[in-house]
Amino acid sequence: MSQITTTSRWTPGERLAGRVPLPEPAAGAPIVGVLALQGDVLEHLRALRRCGAVATEVRTTDHLDAVEGLIVPGGESTTIGKLLERFEVMEPLRQRIAAGMPTFGTCAGMILLSDELEQERVQPLIGGLAVRTRRNAFGRQVASFDTGLEVAGIDGGPMDVSFIRAPRVEAVLEDEVEVLAEVDGYPVIVRQGHLLATAFHPEVTGDDRLHAAFVAQVRAARRA
Ligand code: GLN
Repeated sequence: MSQITTTSRWTPGERLAGRVPLPEPAAGAPIVGVLALQGDVLEHLRALRRCGAVATEVRTTDHLDAVEGLIVPGGESTTIGKLLERFEVMEPLRQRIAAGMPTFGTCAGMILLSDELEQERVQPLIGGLAVRTRRNAFGRQVASFDTGLEVAGIDGGPMDVSFIRAPRVEAVLEDEVEVLAEVDGYPVIVRQGHLLATAFHPEVTGDDRLHAAFVAQVRAARRA
């Protein structure tokens, strides 16, 4: 078991805005990793901590062996995919996912989990999620937007989410893929068994409901 890295006790902005410490994880808390090769790792680690998980960075196969669930963060899917191959984590990660490890991809993470991409250029994908995704489907950086999104199965009103050069799902390739939310008629949250993916960033707004649901899923997978 490798060293568990915990992060700062502060959530983004809180250091400046009133210092709300993160809770210490309880004994036996689920250990959830964030793939930490590139992208917005810290925000996910903090969201997981707020949801009661032990949150740890995953860069190597040893790190991967130590976690019970994994978030693949937003960032640049081409870079993350290439680094997964270079550091020889790609194949072990595919095996863990195939063996049922709960995995949550956000934005670039959704792209990486997709089985197919709607583009000519080939880039390394993790795969596993039976969807065809299109990168930057909402336009360039200037077209990024925040919105309130109704999510099936998430109570308490619309979620606060941020679409940043976001992808969207162009096609669902298998019946078992559930669509939990749509924008303009395109799926932006999909779930397929132990795999969850969002086109947006849920980790930058402080609305932790999807992280909480994912942590609950990791706990449930441990019991199963
Ligand atoms: N546009 C990026 C990509 O294609 C994803 C952007 C993001 O993760 N915010 O990888």
